[in-house]
Parts: sequence; C-alpha cells; structure tokens
Amino acid sequence: MAGLLVLSERLLRHNNSMQEDAALPARLIDPFGRKVEYVRLSVTDKCNLRCFYCLPEGFKGFEEPAHWLRFDEIERVIGAFAGLGVSRVRITGGEPLVRKDLPQLVGQLAGLPGVDDLSLSTNATLLERHAQSLQRAGVSRINVSLDTLRPERFREITGGRLAPVLDGLMAAKVAGFAPIKLNMLALRGINDDEFEDMVEFCIEHGFTLRLIETMPVGSTGRQASEHYLDLQVVKQRLAQRFDLVPGFMPGGGPARYVQVRGTDLRIGFITPISQHFCATCNRVRLAVDGTLYLCLGQDHKYELRPLLRQGISDAGLQEVIMEALTLKPERHEFREQPGQVARFMSMTGG
Ligand code: SAM
Repeated sequence: MAGLLVLSERLLRHNNSMQEDAALPARLIDPFGRKVEYVRLSVTDKCNLRCFYCLPEGFKGFEEPAHWLRFDEIERVIGAFAGLGVSRVRITGGEPLVRKDLPQLVGQLAGLPGVDDLSLSTNATLLERHAQSLQRAGVSRINVSLDTLRPERFREITGGRLAPVLDGLMAAKVAGFAPIKLNMLALRGINDDEFEDMVEFCIEHGFTLRLIETMPVGSTGRQASEHYLDLQVVKQRLAQRFDLVPGFMPGGGPARYVQVRGTDLRIGFITPISQHFCATCNRVRLAVDGTLYLCLGQDHKYELRPLLRQGISDAGLQEVIMEALTLKPERHEFREQPGQVARFMSMTGG
C-alpha cells in the first residue's frame, strides 16, 4: 500500500512537471544546439553614407517601399520571436535613422513582453536630432560606427561629414545612453595609424571601443578585403602602448574584451575572419523586406513577408520561424569561399 502511494505521488509529480514544461515557451534551438535569443532587425536597406567597404557609390538597387515591412508587421514578427525566447533586438540597417518615425517603432517593440534589451546600430549622422526621443521610446544601448576621427579621411571612407557624427555621439551621451560603443573597422593602409587615437578618444568620453575585421560581404566587402587586418596583430600593438588586462562587457555579442588598466575603457575585438565565433552564434537577421537570414555569411533564408500578407496567424508565424531555424548553417565560409555572399552588408542588416 505504501509502495502504491509513493508511485502515485511520483506519477503526480511527473504529470505536474509535464504541465509546467508545456507552459514554458518553446525555445529556438538550431540543428547545432545553439539557442537563438537575438534578432538583428533591419528597418531599411538605405543609407545616407557610402562606406566603400559596404555600399557602392551610385548604387540604386534598394528595396521598393511596398516591400518594406510595415511597423505593425515588424511588431508581429518580433512579438513572435519574443514568444519563442528572443529577448534582445538590435535595430540596424542600412542606416536605421533614415526610416521615418523610427522612435514610434521603438516604442512598439519596447512594449512587447519578453523584449528586454532593445539596442540600435547607427552611423550617428542623424543622432543629434533623435537621441532623446529614441532614449525615451526605449532604446537602451547604442553602437556607433566610426572608423576615423579625421574629417578628410572620414569623407574618403564614407563620402560624408564627420562633424554631425561627433555631434550625434555627444547628444547620445547627454541623452544618457550607456554604454555607447564605437565600432571601428580595422583597415590596413587606411586607418591603421589611428587605433591609439581612438583608444584615447574613448577614454576621454567614456565610450567602449570595438575593433572589427573586414568581411568579404558583397563585391564591396570583397574589394575591401585587400585592406584586411588580423586583429590579433592590432591587439599586440595596442599592448605595447596600453596596459591591457582581461575585460568583460555584457551584451551577448561575439567581441572578446580587454580593459585598459587604470581606466574604464574596454576594447572589444570582433574577429570573424581570424577567429570565427560561429559555434556560439545566437542570432538571426530580419531584412527590411521580411527576409529572415539565418547567417550573415551564407545565403540560407526564409521569406516571411508573403506569409504575413497572406494573413498567417501568430501561432503559424511561430511555427514558420521554428522551421526556418532548421536552415541555420553551422558557420560562415568567409575564408574558404569569400565570393559566397553577393548581397551588401546594408541589405542583410549589419
Ligand atoms: N548604419 C548603421 C551603422 O553605421 O552602424 C548600421 C548598418 S552598418 C551596415 C553596420 C556595420 O556593418 C557597420 O559597423 C559597418 O562598419 C559594418 N560593415 C559594413 N560592411 C562591412 C564589411 N564588409 N566588413 C565588416 N563590417 C562591415
């Protein structure tokens, strides 16, 4: 009798835990056991700069507005992801601030249950005007792309003006964004004499610096690869001038950090080429036209826009997202097959 009681208690506990499991949201685990918890959301493929490694001058092949996901569609897709365990969303582009009414979208996404980290990548050219409203709407962290502090060089790299970017950065500081990370592409023969200056600039302003290796994405990225610089070498060089100790930075990204002793500065090294980090990849990318890219360096994708416009249900959307995840490849092949990705970074959502 006592034995029977124990058995029925165990069964009850098992059933209860099954019910609890069923109540847990489904999780996005890819075929390689990686948990996807991060979406990079491109809100436009347009940009007001023309960085030579990203978009060709005179490029006209932008997505037509009728194909852009509307804010309500973006909200539905991100809501579906959030229901599947995605908690981090980074708004990017193209240049996200050229998308009209961006703070309104930010507000919609910030209100979604489960989204607890909403960040933005920008070139900062329009940030002075928008920093406060973005902050109020719910953006918590900002990354700014900045490859040089020299106006002439900035014009050569991007075709634009440096002054508005610096104004935007200062406005972001005043608005209270923290951390503010500067993303600097390391380009041999172009800005490789500026790493130390950038470190000093970041120490002075309390920014975090991230150095990034050039990737052969699109014809522009492939051409720029002739300026590729192995960041292991850059780290050794910086160590000669600064006292670097191991550092840490929350954020879910692939950067490996060091800290400059005696300062708050952390320097992150993002090394997709010299030391790829695909084994810990936790992200997917949603392009402005509703294409879900499963890897920055491969063509695996799933088209969500037609389904959204055919009236797919929320549950159906989640099923489709889980199905799409089975397409996520193990890794990029930038080294083995540098010609593989034809689309420009601005199309995927860099
Ligand atoms: N406009 C925003 C910005 O400037 O941050 C977001 C989009 S931009 C495409 C995102 C990042 O992609 C930038 O930091 C840029 O330097 C990086 N990028 C573009 N082309 C690249 C390439 N071929 N290799 C490595 N990074 C690249």
